[in-house]
Amino acid sequence: MSINLDSLDKLVSLAKRRGYVFPSSEIYGGFASTWDYGPLGAELIRNIKEAWWRDIVVARDDVVGLNASILMAPKVWEASGHVEHFSDPLVECKECRRRFRDDDFAGNTCPKCNGDLGDIRQFNTMFKTFVGPVEQQAATAYLRPETAQSIFVNFRNVQQSARMKLPFGIAQTGKAFRNEITTGNFLFRTREFEQMELEYFVPPHEDEASFEFWITRRKAWYEKYGIDAQNLRVRKHATEELAHYSLGTSDIEYRFPFGWSEIEGIARRGSYDLQQHIDAGAKDLTYFDNDSGQHIVPWVVEPSAGVDRAALSFLCEAYREEKVPNSKGKEEIRTVLRLDPRLAPIKVAYFPLVKKPPLQELAHKLQDQARFTWNTFYDETGAIGRRYRRQDEAGTPFCVTVDYESLDDNAVTIRDRDNLKQERIPVTDVIAYLNSRLHWSKGQ
Ligand SMILES: [Zn+2]
Repeated sequence: MSINLDSLDKLVSLAKRRGYVFPSSEIYGGFASTWDYGPLGAELIRNIKEAWWRDIVVARDDVVGLNASILMAPKVWEASGHVEHFSDPLVECKECRRRFRDDDFAGNTCPKCNGDLGDIRQFNTMFKTFVGPVEQQAATAYLRPETAQSIFVNFRNVQQSARMKLPFGIAQTGKAFRNEITTGNFLFRTREFEQMELEYFVPPHEDEASFEFWITRRKAWYEKYGIDAQNLRVRKHATEELAHYSLGTSDIEYRFPFGWSEIEGIARRGSYDLQQHIDAGAKDLTYFDNDSGQHIVPWVVEPSAGVDRAALSFLCEAYREEKVPNSKGKEEIRTVLRLDPRLAPIKVAYFPLVKKPPLQELAHKLQDQARFTWNTFYDETGAIGRRYRRQDEAGTPFCVTVDYESLDDNAVTIRDRDNLKQERIPVTDVIAYLNSRLHWSKGQ
């Protein structure tokens, strides 16, 4: 069990109420396992990707970025082995006709009705679509099931244009699509999802040290952004679990309310992908090694994370129901999302204590100083306690309150979401206060 939630129900409810996540197409009754990020969710997702990009690309000399198209030449997926191998074992119940992934349960009978199951057949989980106005075989294309292949097919373009030397990496975030037989657990398994993938190329057979490095580095990233080390573990795949391209894979798992589950996989893909494209007759994807004077096919280590799974783990970890005293000193329960301030959708909310022009003006003026740097919020409606509670549920780390005294002492109150401390600081120090807590290098 996760520490703070015994099921996802409360989180799903808060996510809808506060505008993190809505069921997709809800006005038409929804659409299976698809979700839409609302105003706060859209910000959270941006911040997670930003945190990843800064750690993987901006802070490193040996990694560069890529943003490739989702649609690719169908030959890519033939060469990569996805047309042949990217499938799940599907069984159908002879009685109720429900379909299941064979490896989702043990036994030979239907888990719903106990009917007999038919033969297992392999079901390719790539989504097919048609390019052009005529739905014919020649125009079949696939929605990419991973962002990785566009990195491999661009290996030489990137290496030469950016003049990269081994070892080096190419990073990309973007949507991927898998026609999963079974989905569920909110954002955890959906058919459309977003990946954050790094392909880190190394000299042949020098991948093991890099593999260990990236497992450690990636686990530390989740901890840096607020996940307790006790809720993370690394699980090595057994040989029979390995994907068709993998020499070895370890998953970083998070302790969700529904059990330990993968949030990131780190795989040793060897030279498999580059070699497959070379063998398929694609343009030369080798690397010229100046030291040996030879063309070599690099090996690759791939840390592959899911944006949506990261979001779900950060939300589960942040969720708390706490007993706190209200303004009259009585105990009440507050629901709060203790998100890392850098991941929080709204960084700071500005409140005039009452709706009076001099207080409103100062609150607006302070907000204007911050609005091009951080996502901010202004609220003047309702009692101050109610406004704090709303921001607690939204996960806003700081609230700045302007009161009558502010007009005399030129100071405001900053309230910290987590320890509830209210600090009086000069108006001129507000930006420096926020910057010290919201800087990306903090905790590095
Ligand atoms: Zn059945």
